[in-house]
Amino acid sequence: MFPFGHIGFTILLLYIVLRLNGTGGPTGTRRLQTSKARATTEKKGHFIQISDIDHIDLRILILGVAMPDIIDKVVGHLFLADTIDNGRIMSHTLLVAIMILALSTWRFRERGFVFGLGWTAHLFEDMMWNTPETFAWPAFGLGFPEREFDVMNWIEALRSDTFVQATEAVGIAIIIILIVRYSLLNRKAISRLIRTGHLAE
Ligand SMILES: [Zn+2]
Repeated sequence: MFPFGHIGFTILLLYIVLRLNGTGGPTGTRRLQTSKARATTEKKGHFIQISDIDHIDLRILILGVAMPDIIDKVVGHLFLADTIDNGRIMSHTLLVAIMILALSTWRFRERGFVFGLGWTAHLFEDMMWNTPETFAWPAFGLGFPEREFDVMNWIEALRSDTFVQATEAVGIAIIIILIVRYSLLNRKAISRLIRTGHLAE
């Protein structure tokens, strides 16, 4: 999947997860809790207290979404250019994604969960199950398949692959809905997004 598809679909997934958690919309009540109340809830057995969609740090989500490509494209295409030249390797395995999700949630609570969710969602948006040697690594052996990188394939996919076009269009639509819903096209909102990653005050 391409950038807008990745970001849009992951925000949608996060929204669904938050709805299931009871903190989906701006009317979610948990954001009204004081930090003391949150601490009490956490003590009572909830391991993490998750904010509503307005107050999730979207910068962390986008970082998590981008991470598998940032790592694997650099390692796979630069350092392993003479061997496998594959930009979907270790960070695109389900094993690593689940470990990142578990460890980062354990260590950083909400922020870690959001980061790990973005990372894990990336694999599904890439439809990694079509490359089971990587997705289910190391079930099929320790190596990764070869895959030559060609920027023309990338451009061609964007130009003629209807699945790619459709997912990018949906991703862009989700981002536009957020921009309209939260009036994000003004200096105050943009600076808040950059400073805190929050959609709303
Ligand atoms: Zn990827």
